[in-house]
Amino acid sequence: MKLLIKNGHLIDPANGQNSGQDVLVEDGKVAAWVGRGEELPTDVEVFDASGLIVAPGFIDMHVHLREPGQEHKETIASGCAAAVAGGWTSVCPMPNTNPVNDNAAITRYMIEQAERAGLANVFPIGAITKSSDGSELAEMGEMKAAGAVAVSDDGRPVPNAGIMRRAMQYARDFDLPVIDHCEDKSLSSGGVMHEGKISLLLGLKGMPALAEDIDAVRDIILAKDTGTHIHIAHVSTKGALDAVRRAKADGINVTCEVTPHHFTLTDKAVEGYDTNTKMAPPLRSQEHLEAILEGIKDGTIDAIATDHAPHHADEKALEYDRAPFGITGLETAIGLAFNELVNKGVIDLVRLVELCSVNPAKIFKLAGRGTLVPGSIADITIIDPNLTWIYRNADSRSKSRNSPFDGCEFTGAAVATIVGGRIVYRR
Ligand SMILES: [Zn+2]
Ligand SMILES: [Zn+2]
Repeated sequence: MKLLIKNGHLIDPANGQNSGQDVLVEDGKVAAWVGRGEELPTDVEVFDASGLIVAPGFIDMHVHLREPGQEHKETIASGCAAAVAGGWTSVCPMPNTNPVNDNAAITRYMIEQAERAGLANVFPIGAITKSSDGSELAEMGEMKAAGAVAVSDDGRPVPNAGIMRRAMQYARDFDLPVIDHCEDKSLSSGGVMHEGKISLLLGLKGMPALAEDIDAVRDIILAKDTGTHIHIAHVSTKGALDAVRRAKADGINVTCEVTPHHFTLTDKAVEGYDTNTKMAPPLRSQEHLEAILEGIKDGTIDAIATDHAPHHADEKALEYDRAPFGITGLETAIGLAFNELVNKGVIDLVRLVELCSVNPAKIFKLAGRGTLVPGSIADITIIDPNLTWIYRNADSRSKSRNSPFDGCEFTGAAVATIVGGRIVYRR
């Protein structure tokens, strides 16, 4: 089957492309770029992309799909449906399923479930330690052979520096990046929001920024020592970001991601005690948000990732202290990136594509992705930068509805998602 994406504006930063160009897709791959005025093949399905941006498929480096074990919150199929509706052609699920993805059988199971759903690609992230309990290293080599692209103990970061050092050496030997949720729990435990003036006013226990800073600094030192690539997940503090900036300048192999909620909201959003403002790391204060915007602008931040964390309505309908951490994010990410970054002039569209596609593909070494050069895999995100729309939790394709952005208006949206040459979503 051939598909011609016609009249669109092609942004392919990996090849310096940023202008009108038609894209011919054949057998799941990009077959050719067809310049304006060139003769077009006739035996093809045509997608009219007039007024639209055609970009290499967006890759969400950090999601929670809850399967196996918590299918009432999300399944791989429902998570992938939400992903493609949000413009993501690939998602990378964290290992905190039940059982934990700490072995090849579960890694394989996740990939098979995604293939069955036939929507987004799923590239699982394996656990660093068995059951993510911080003691014994998981079988990283076997998980990699089964398709894992990185290792992480995400919400349960390895507390013991000695074990983390060995984990990094082990991951390096398998050429796997270590994804690091930076939180020293001896400083943050019991906390439910950012520690600051507002937590004091609200009478809620705070999680200090330095809990993130200290862990980031520790693991950057370990990355330098071991020569391992570490990727800092959902960076939310000025201190952690400064540490990454310095590390990069020193030539240490470190990258980092930011979530849309951390570049959009501050701890002020917690004032109504809406449990959909509770996540880890927490929404920080204005000075941290400004530092994050600076990091997005100056290139310190490599990627935008959602940390999509679905929870059932009953679980979030608790007192703020008792509700679980996490919000959904797959369907609002691009809208937020437009509202807060592109439409406000913080970044341009080329940089947006770098943050959502080029860099995630590079960090996880996903060959043939993050670009639309002829020969690459035809994973394509098509964007209408001028479409104004309203996000409604009720319309979400996720099984869960725990987003603080219900009713928000956005200008900029993914209007079609193509995975392996097939149109899997069309707005
Ligand atoms: Zn995390
Ligand atoms: Zn997470």
